[in-house]
Amino acid sequence: MQFSVRRPEAEIARGALLTGLAACSLAVPMVITFLVDVSWRHDTALWVAAILTIGVPIAYIAWRLRTSAGDPRVAFAVVCCALASISLVDVAAHDVVGVYRPVLLVPVAFVVLIGDRRMVVATWALVVVAVAVTSYEVGVRGRVFASELVLFAAVAALLGWMTNRSVATLHRYVDTRNALHELDEAIADAESVDDAVRRGLPLVGGVVGGAQVDVWSYPSAGGPPLLVASHPPLGPGDEVRAVPPDPSTVRACLERNRPVVQPEQSFVPVGYSTTGVMVLAVHHPRHERERLLHLRAIGDELAAVFLRTTSRAAFVAGLRTDARTDVLTGLPNRRALVERLDTEIARAARDHAPLSVGMADLDHFKQYNDGHGHVAGDALLRAVAGRLVASLRRTDTVARYGGEEFCVLLPGTDLPEAVRVLDEARQAVKHDLQADGITISAGVATMRTWDGVGGTTGTRPLDLVDRADRALYRAKDRGRDRVVPETEEGAHLPRPGGSAADRLAWPVAVGDPSADPAGES
Ligand code: GH3
Ligand code: MG
Ligand code: MG
Repeated sequence: MQFSVRRPEAEIARGALLTGLAACSLAVPMVITFLVDVSWRHDTALWVAAILTIGVPIAYIAWRLRTSAGDPRVAFAVVCCALASISLVDVAAHDVVGVYRPVLLVPVAFVVLIGDRRMVVATWALVVVAVAVTSYEVGVRGRVFASELVLFAAVAALLGWMTNRSVATLHRYVDTRNALHELDEAIADAESVDDAVRRGLPLVGGVVGGAQVDVWSYPSAGGPPLLVASHPPLGPGDEVRAVPPDPSTVRACLERNRPVVQPEQSFVPVGYSTTGVMVLAVHHPRHERERLLHLRAIGDELAAVFLRTTSRAAFVAGLRTDARTDVLTGLPNRRALVERLDTEIARAARDHAPLSVGMADLDHFKQYNDGHGHVAGDALLRAVAGRLVASLRRTDTVARYGGEEFCVLLPGTDLPEAVRVLDEARQAVKHDLQADGITISAGVATMRTWDGVGGTTGTRPLDLVDRADRALYRAKDRGRDRVVPETEEGAHLPRPGGSAADRLAWPVAVGDPSADPAGES
């Protein structure tokens, strides 16, 4: 059977199920004729009913074998055949007490159970016609006919009401399962808690019966909760409604790692990350008891669907961060540097902006290690890392390239400016660590889109690093404690047709002149 709560094509499955049940109901009057001792008065009607009873299910099975889908129209045709068959048996039997007429309710019950509204109305109309015709045929007239009709209507109404209620429950159940399934599918490969919430929020309404849902983020560093998103989105003036959930309730929710369902506003935990926790706030007015009960029933599953995905996303994000972070200094490591360099090169080419790379190396660090020990050396490396980060912009990147070498990315910065920035960093390190007598040397290279080296093609991440590294070697050669730009490598000939000022703008070397006896050619 295709009927499955996991499949969105429940409509088709319903049609198929309905047809099958209606086909089965054809057999009901025939079974009754075996159980009840009847005298037949109308052979033709009985034969037609028998042919319908056998023929329709066979035709239905053949049709189902040819086409895999169900069709509500076929279902309805089979229901009509069932009604006709029952009426014919009723007419054929000498049945003044009306054993067969109540059997008309059997196919009707199936239609009410699974069919749509139009089908239900049409079936009821057919039943009324069938009852009238068979009553007339078997000679039920006048008051007896009227009382029978009233009784029939009363039983039918009761049956309809009961089935309708169970159908509504069944439909809600199926819809909720489908909505949960869709939500699960939509967020399954989310990359972060934010991503899962952004993708899942529009689908949460289907799970919680269309209630208004807000997402609140509680930062782990403390501070007030933030409204991340709402569904349906808040309109102007709605902000007043977006009152953050009471912290003690949220705490209860997080401590139990389960939803807290209560009148007016319920809370469902959906994600924990290093930056904080996220909670869904579901609104349901006091009088909407149904919705509250519904949320009580599915809250746990809603939380589970989110938490399963978001905990995985947080774990994977943690692994990603670990694999890209240098353990000693907490800076991005070489892998992260190469990735970022790739991104920045593409961005620079797209925006026609310069991109500079600096390589900085501690001077005579081996001596420091030998004199003070490696633990002190490690502490010094951390201090230098902190000082470099502090002296650069937020958009710049400092990575630990290896041992005591740091690589600096300066997006949107041309060579003279990059040399100036790195020289400031050099001075800051020297100033901060003067007690340890530590200095750094650095080399700088720049990619520019117009110089024929960068642009959309050409520059590979490690080429830039290599060019900066060669400049660094020259800084070491010239006595250390200075910043040297790449100059003669040909990589940075002035822009063709550029101004004389452009050509003259290259600083030869910046640093402590007294430490540089050789000078720059
Ligand atoms: P130069 O001015 O030419 O750069 O001299 P240097 O002594 O700094 O250069 P060299 O490359 O010979 O030595 C680098 C030293 O850095 C060697 C090694 O002991 C030290 N080192 C590399 N990584 C670490 C680390 O993680 N911790 C510590 N404490 N020392 C490190
Ligand atoms: Mg060194
Ligand atoms: Mg070195």
